[in-house]
Amino acid sequence: MTGDDGRSGRLEVIAGPMFAGKTEELVRRVHRAQVARRGVLVVAHELDTRSGPGRVASHSGLEVPSRSVRAADEIQTLVADGTELVAVDEAQFFGLDLPDVATALADAGLVVVVAGLSVTFDGRPFAPLPELMAVAESVTKLTAVCAVCGRDAAFHVRLEAAPADVDDALAPTSGHVGGAESYEARCRRHRA
Ligand code: ADP
Ligand code: MG
Repeated sequence: MTGDDGRSGRLEVIAGPMFAGKTEELVRRVHRAQVARRGVLVVAHELDTRSGPGRVASHSGLEVPSRSVRAADEIQTLVADGTELVAVDEAQFFGLDLPDVATALADAGLVVVVAGLSVTFDGRPFAPLPELMAVAESVTKLTAVCAVCGRDAAFHVRLEAAPADVDDALAPTSGHVGGAESYEARCRRHRA
């Protein structure tokens, strides 16, 4: 593992519902680090098939090359000499092993940026985002635009017409896999 003696290590969390711009913000921070010639590792989960293999992509088309892993403990094995920033997208796929891994990397002096869904499609806290937010130096909580009224949307819902098998792979945590065709951002008033 690289990094310094821990003085500049930090954990930054980007959280919110679907369409909030979490991946855009993650990619923005990765691009800034690359401009500053920092060594960057971008990590996605193998279960995240929406972007296609080898890249993390936003709904608006921003993208960055990434490595895919099956579990949180594989992330450390990808950290090379010179890696200074580790960016993890779709953190909800990694489960409750991720906070310990992210903490170990930040303790070792790396900047760790983690983006993910803070809520399930039925409006409950979605682990491990709450746990990550609790131990982060910075938390950026984003909202999307409500698809019904345009207010700030802190939630997303699964549309009735969505194919039944869209996120069966993740049941019972049931938060996400589909894209724009099966989920909509909603404000507090229109989430039910
Ligand atoms: P996230 O990673 O949070 O799901 P992305 O960064 O992939 O979000 O995409 C954000 C982009 O999605 C916005 O910049 C916008 O172009 C688009 N978008 C589509 N629907 C919405 C919506 N309801 N609210 C906000 N942005 C939306
Ligand atoms: Mg995203």
